[in-house]
Amino acid sequence: MKLTTLSGFLAVSLFPTTFACVASTGQPFYGDPPDAHHAWCVHDWNRPQPPRVEPKPLVDAKPPTDAVVLFDGSEAALANWEADKPGREATKWIVKDGVFQCVPKSGYVRSKAKFGDCKLHVEWASPTPPQGESQGRGNSGIFLMGLVEIQVLDNYDNPTYADGFACSVYGVNPPLANALRPPGEWQQIDIEYRHPVYRDDQCVNPGFVTVYCNGVLVQDHTLLEGPTGHKTRSKPGPFPEAGPLKLQDHGNPVRFRNIWYQLLPPRADDEVVKSGQLGTEATLAKRKEIAATIRESAKKMPEQSVNQMLRLSESLVYEKDEATYNNLKQLAVAYAASIKSLTAEQLQARKDEVKGVFKAFQYLAKFKVFEANDAAWTEIASIAKAHGWEK
Ligand code: MG
Repeated sequence: MKLTTLSGFLAVSLFPTTFACVASTGQPFYGDPPDAHHAWCVHDWNRPQPPRVEPKPLVDAKPPTDAVVLFDGSEAALANWEADKPGREATKWIVKDGVFQCVPKSGYVRSKAKFGDCKLHVEWASPTPPQGESQGRGNSGIFLMGLVEIQVLDNYDNPTYADGFACSVYGVNPPLANALRPPGEWQQIDIEYRHPVYRDDQCVNPGFVTVYCNGVLVQDHTLLEGPTGHKTRSKPGPFPEAGPLKLQDHGNPVRFRNIWYQLLPPRADDEVVKSGQLGTEATLAKRKEIAATIRESAKKMPEQSVNQMLRLSESLVYEKDEATYNNLKQLAVAYAASIKSLTAEQLQARKDEVKGVFKAFQYLAKFKVFEANDAAWTEIASIAKAHGWEK
């Protein structure tokens, strides 16, 4: 050991009450500690800051035609919102120059509409010039169903704890990247949200959220365990089916515009296994429903027409049905006899039709919907093959 190193060691050892001055990395002993499934504390300053990724250019976002628009820049759109307080109270947030602005200390605002699984588009801009630091700079929040916060914060040049960064699932998961524009510029946020589904206190389908910030993926199908909270670990537990969208008043005049959502198709709750695959029962029920719809449409076609025969055979792909199968066999026998009786010229004129029937029956035989040795099918196949129409 070199003497200089040794003397440094001795200096520290001899003066144990002397602490070296180091730059603070943030507040420890703050949020809930790590546990068996979470390696980081909640709001852990040891967790790395999201890496910088340049945002994609601002797009002129227009709501899709099936979207429910919650804010379109008009004063009238205020009617879609209310103060997040018991009862029905108008919000004190204001509409100014086509934007919806938080009035500090007026409280959260919530949509009158309640909804669950959705695609949501929100744009926000933080105050400029920026004031405050960490969680104190341009803080607001997008609360899905009023329970899960996607953080709104000016982190353009402002470190904070990673799980409280802009576009974090607050206290749960930091964004994959910092793709923010400078304060004052519009941030375009697109969210796909599936809430946790509970039955009899059991989670039968976990919640997930995917978020894009300025066109950059920042939450990739992030697991949602429960509502988010400050300093506390998000815990699994019964979750409602729908709730209002809430925007947070965190004391900063954050501005919003272009807020709309599209409902996502409902999941068949406990019939859906975690992979997203339909359960057997739900699949059979859906196939039965599809087959019935096809049969209904076949009924409206001319009786004993080729189209009706093909439509009925199509229904068998979804559901085995003896009556339909027997009906189809009769139709196939009649069809085989009819084309067999045609002259070569007449047959040639119906080439496309025969090819179509051959192709359909070939498919049905391949997937064992139709018996491969059925007499009518064999007859039709031999005619098609004799003319080289099987390809
Ligand atoms: Mg917030």
